[in-house]
Amino acid sequence: MSAPLPAPAEAGDPDFAELLAQRPQLSAHALDGLCLEGVPLARLAEAVGTPCWAYSAGTLRRRYGALRAALKGAGLDASIHYAVKANDNLAVLRVLAAEGAGADVVSEGELRAARAAGIPAGRIVFSGVGKTEREIRLVLAEGIFQLNAESVEEIDMISSVAASMGQVAPVSIRVNPDVDARTHAKITTGKAENKFGVAIDDAAALYARMAALPGLRPIGIAVHIGSQITAGLAAYRAAYAKVAELVRALRGRGLPVERVDGGGGLGIPYRDEIAPPPEALAGALAGAFKGLGLPVMVEPGRWIAGPAGVLLARVVLVKRGATRRFVVLDAGMNDLMRPAMYDAWHGILPVSPGALHAPRSPADVVGPVCETGDTFTQGRALPELAPGEVVAVLDAGAYGASMSSTYNARPLAAEVLVEGDRWAVVRDRQPFEDLLARQRIPEWMG
Ligand SMILES: *Cc1c(COP(=O)(O)O)cnc(C)c1O
Repeated sequence: MSAPLPAPAEAGDPDFAELLAQRPQLSAHALDGLCLEGVPLARLAEAVGTPCWAYSAGTLRRRYGALRAALKGAGLDASIHYAVKANDNLAVLRVLAAEGAGADVVSEGELRAARAAGIPAGRIVFSGVGKTEREIRLVLAEGIFQLNAESVEEIDMISSVAASMGQVAPVSIRVNPDVDARTHAKITTGKAENKFGVAIDDAAALYARMAALPGLRPIGIAVHIGSQITAGLAAYRAAYAKVAELVRALRGRGLPVERVDGGGGLGIPYRDEIAPPPEALAGALAGAFKGLGLPVMVEPGRWIAGPAGVLLARVVLVKRGATRRFVVLDAGMNDLMRPAMYDAWHGILPVSPGALHAPRSPADVVGPVCETGDTFTQGRALPELAPGEVVAVLDAGAYGASMSSTYNARPLAAEVLVEGDRWAVVRDRQPFEDLLARQRIPEWMG
């Protein structure tokens, strides 16, 4: 079925064949070209239009299952709370809900999405540095599993809201362990200078205070040190060791601890990063927490959803600059913001069988948005890509559609779920009328 692909590309960049070898959900077929599970992506682009996102249900399920098996294999009593912000599409959430996943949400909108997808409130964690009184009221009324508080101010607010409702809020304290996750500065969250969590040295006193406040049940300690962590597990181990030490200190003071929350952040290989396998994360959790005899929680987002998705885009035109070849796509930074925001590298594959096997030369792949930052990649070894040719931007399942905007008045792209050889549009392309629908010109302007 699969035809051999020519090697090798630019020094340092993985070849097309290497990109495919690491992504079992993708395959290159001699007749159909690039397929996601059993669906030819050229056909999908034709039917749905571009830009569009396509997610592999099998990949979501496989990765969720692999993580669950790793946690179980390490002998942990663990629950997985998928971080909804990575991909909040209802069908994606439904796939994970059906596997028994819980959710980690950071807003009323995410809570509503998780609930609509069938994730019970009793499996949902509410995180975030800026929970509003309205949101706290809502999650308590829903019967949320846990709130992760990030400041003394928030603890006082949760206490007074819960008490006024005659409720007892299950609250963990998110600590800032001051460890360096060695990831991109914009997704590092566990350093003392980051806005997240309470200083770990203040946590014991705060926990004691929480136990004395009305309307609160202290549950445990939570930590989340950053995202796209690939630099080994040293940072996880350091953070978890500090949390375990804190739990022992709390118990020493007679304060009950019901569980610990190890957060998310496990990275994936976009280019050639060596990402720790879930077994390694499970080992780090077990090493720190198994001796405490407590259930543990994890909150992965990217690790589950990232590899499951691609962004399909069509070549609008190829512009020959003085020194460079610019391939201009109909998808831009408003669709996939990661290259502009984090200098992220994404694999880019043509979907047609001919282009997959054609000789390659360096190209800059850019979007149509009026920003220099609207560049997917520079100097990438790609075949001649004629206008109309479709490309797939890989590993776009996490922090892709969920971070999209309508900048440049560009409607949000369609989303598709693929399952074997079936596919369905799971979010319509936003109609242009939508962009104007909730705007109005003041009456006095006539
Ligand atoms: C973003 C976030 C996650 C998920 O991070 P990933 O890198 O996608 O795994 C988990 N927990 C919290 C508190 C977060 O803010």
